[in-house]
Amino acid sequence: VSSILPSAVNELIEVLSKLPGVGPKMASRLAFYLLQKGKDDINQITDAILGITQSLRQCQKCGLIAENDLCPICQSQTRNEHQICVVEDSLDVVAFERANSYQGVYHVLGGVLSPIDGIGPEQLRIEQLMARLVEHQECEIILALNPSLEGEATADYLKDEIMKVNSSAVVTQIARGLPMGSDVEYADPTTLVRALEGRKEF
Ligand SMILES: [Zn+2]
Repeated sequence: VSSILPSAVNELIEVLSKLPGVGPKMASRLAFYLLQKGKDDINQITDAILGITQSLRQCQKCGLIAENDLCPICQSQTRNEHQICVVEDSLDVVAFERANSYQGVYHVLGGVLSPIDGIGPEQLRIEQLMARLVEHQECEIILALNPSLEGEATADYLKDEIMKVNSSAVVTQIARGLPMGSDVEYADPTTLVRALEGRKEF
């Protein structure tokens, strides 16, 4: 923030610098880039941002960000409902779908257990997952959480909870081809397909 700059510019820099991966320096560059743009270009950006605040919701079944009550995957007749891949967020679903090999459905948890950040089971879509398992007695739950300490702890917790509501469910975990600390969402398609194919009972 600089006292020589108009407050509108300072405000924009401040807002942009809060975006993930954008520091103060990048925020200043973006702000000055936008300053050079015409009103039409800026309107296009603001319209796109406003678009995600309107009429978007979570799929009632899997929690994926969606336009309707059910996402296209849950609406599809060709997906195997007895195979549920549990992921942290919607972008992980995008990564798996990009790999174009998985035919089951998903369940988006909305994060992982992290007591330090105040995220317990109630903050995640765990109850909704259990409800789905009661519906489908015979099913495979594929745990595809990011390889982190929180991800591992969440996987352990889920396994116990799943067994409580559906002891005939098979719980598997994607192969740890993904290095610790890496993200499912950034994994390349080949790695993801291999991790999925190499999944083991958990
Ligand atoms: Zn869905």
